[in-house]
Amino acid sequence: MSTYTLPKLPYETSALEPIISRRILELHHGAHHAAYVKGANAALEKLEKARQTENAELIAALEKELAFNVSGHVLHSIFWQNMMPKGGGPPPDGELARAIHRDFGSFDRFKWQLTQAAQKAMGSAWAALAWEPVAGKLVTVEIHDHQGNVTQPGIPLMVIDAWEHAYYLQYENRKAEFFSAIWNLWNWRDVSTRFEAAKKLDLGLTGVHTG
Ligand code: MN
Repeated sequence: MSTYTLPKLPYETSALEPIISRRILELHHGAHHAAYVKGANAALEKLEKARQTENAELIAALEKELAFNVSGHVLHSIFWQNMMPKGGGPPPDGELARAIHRDFGSFDRFKWQLTQAAQKAMGSAWAALAWEPVAGKLVTVEIHDHQGNVTQPGIPLMVIDAWEHAYYLQYENRKAEFFSAIWNLWNWRDVSTRFEAAKKLDLGLTGVHTG
């Protein structure tokens, strides 16, 4: 059976300092992300057992476990790629910059909206810039836990981990400082590549949107 695996970080654990401390990145990648990978594989195994024994009682809980852990794995994997040392600033001129301007009015309005989606999230959540393929536009979403509150089948392009484990050791209760500082880490080349790939998705739906 195929299994999910923990990807290597694309930089050293100290590479994002001082914005994200080495210790936070060590724990966040090596313990938290790793646990979602383990949980995703465990959920698949348990589902296989439930199928074999036709144990219907377990299905609802296992589907929840699968969605939570696979989504945690996917979002963390995107998050690591979205960042780089000495990143940030607005995206360079190009398709992504034009789409941000078209769909949010300006880069500053987009930055405000995504930051607020992280800041105002209740409980454990992510804020994401996502491609919404029905309307063919960029949207922001506040993802509850790792999998709730999403617009189907939106594709996350750029994500902010707003769980406390992402910042608390360093920023304590000053999460607004973390959500502001993280704008100095964005790897726009990575976000642009995801945007170009996401735009190719064709859902094969007709009559569901105009304009
Ligand atoms: Mn996390």
